[in-house]
Amino acid sequence: MDSRRIADIWGPCTPHSAGTPWPRRVDQFLIDGVGEADVDTWVRGACLLCSNGCGLEVAVRDGRMVGVRGRAEDRVNHGRLGPKGLYGWQGEQHDRLTTPLIREGGRLVETDWETAMNRVVERSRALLDSKGPLSHAFYTSGQLTIEEYYTLAVIGKAGVGTPHMDGNTRLCTANAASPAGTRSPNNRNSRSPQSPSNASRPETGPRRRPSTRPPHRSAPSTRSVTERHRLMHLVTYLGFQHTSEATLAGSFTVVSEGHTGDADVHWAAARFARQCAAHSQALDPVLARLDAPDEPAPERLHVQGITTARPGPAGLLRDLLDLYQLANLVDITWHLVAQAGSALRDHELLHAVDTCSAQTAAQLDWLRMRMKTAAPQTLLVAT
Ligand code: SF4
Repeated sequence: MDSRRIADIWGPCTPHSAGTPWPRRVDQFLIDGVGEADVDTWVRGACLLCSNGCGLEVAVRDGRMVGVRGRAEDRVNHGRLGPKGLYGWQGEQHDRLTTPLIREGGRLVETDWETAMNRVVERSRALLDSKGPLSHAFYTSGQLTIEEYYTLAVIGKAGVGTPHMDGNTRLCTANAASPAGTRSPNNRNSRSPQSPSNASRPETGPRRRPSTRPPHRSAPSTRSVTERHRLMHLVTYLGFQHTSEATLAGSFTVVSEGHTGDADVHWAAARFARQCAAHSQALDPVLARLDAPDEPAPERLHVQGITTARPGPAGLLRDLLDLYQLANLVDITWHLVAQAGSALRDHELLHAVDTCSAQTAAQLDWLRMRMKTAAPQTLLVAT
């Protein structure tokens, strides 16, 4: 095997200035004894070995894989491949899993594929019947082929119906494209315990780590294409939540002032209105700090508040129901934002979410209780 790229993991430099196109450089490796003229066909694909997914083509001869080369037109790598992409596929040439194992009486015993797969199907059916789709989760290797990933997605999402699917391409090599030197302030502590080995160094396929470039060269901004783009949808949802909390505050105020005869509603709704206004303000510094491109909110991502309180007991119940729907939307959005905040390890955002989501949950509890209390008298009109 040609091992030059193991000694020189980045390969030849292709310096360029900011604002100029990133030069193409097609890296190629063919096994010993095979030249380009011997290749029957080149098949388009992508490297599986980290989350960059560098574009490559697979060299095929006599139905066997004999090499790879980068795809010059691929926007991730412009033809470059790191040592893993160039050589790693050779480790998958041999079928290492030859015999399935099933557990019998607490011991793993060898069996045939038919028996093993039937066992998986039986157990899955029983779990789906008794507990539903969320009883299933898939955590997969990063070394599947594109076709295998596709099949897995069809089984997991279209078949079983679970959202719990992840692979070590996202966790183990989560920082592959974004080395420590390029992180934004809110993400500078992201030496994730889930990605210990690659946390401080990027993979070698796409481009040289900016901090290792000779100082006279103007490095393209990795931050601008990774961090800012990565945050784009989070910022959209934070903006949505900012508006939703303000809308909910206004709606609580309308209900408070429109139902002064129901003292408990009047005072509770006024208190909740103040909370929601504070929730909206709590997002101001987070939104100001996150450096992401503006994206117009998707057409259907909006909330409509209560502008006029409805009169009477039936009107109150409907107003409370509207508030409940609004608060539910706010509640689930806090949960979504919390997931992103955890992934980013953004402590300021997580602190805001903790405080606000707890109060939103308490608002929902109160609204549910108040509607249940009002329902018998309101729904069963005396004749
Ligand atoms: S950086 Fe290396 S391992 Fe990652 S996808 Fe590109 S070639 Fe494969």
